[in-house]
Amino acid sequence: MVDNNIVMESEKCIECGASEIDGYSCFEMFQFPLVWEHNDPQLYDLHFWLVSCYMIQHPSNYTKDGYETMINLFIGAYDNKWDIDYILRKNKELVSNVTKITNPLPSNERKRVFRRWAMTIENIYSGGENNAINNINLWKETIRKDIKI
Ligand SMILES: [Zn+2]
Repeated sequence: MVDNNIVMESEKCIECGASEIDGYSCFEMFQFPLVWEHNDPQLYDLHFWLVSCYMIQHPSNYTKDGYETMINLFIGAYDNKWDIDYILRKNKELVSNVTKITNPLPSNERKRVFRRWAMTIENIYSGGENNAINNINLWKETIRKDIKI
């Protein structure tokens, strides 16, 4: 099944490893916190982190340069505790130096390599709306450890 550039096989995302829950694909589970954050400004403050965590776990959607830019921004923002305005400014600056961010290949021609992560969107979805803030903060911490550099 191909759904918005995500491929699920045997009920698992072949790239991030998230298991399908309640019949939802990895991408469908990602839509839930994007809705929850509209009900909670504190959750909305984590929008950058939610989206970056999800993007980082699906490298096939990006060019090599695009992906590296994303990782550099994530690490810079995390390690230096940048505030959100600074992150967005920095993002603009970094992105303007990259010719192409998204993978130009059609979804069915992209190479997807499975990588095991401590947490995936599966944990955010299954933790539910009430735990979303804690879980997204945890997700970003575990990804920071997983990408080490
Ligand atoms: Zn996935």
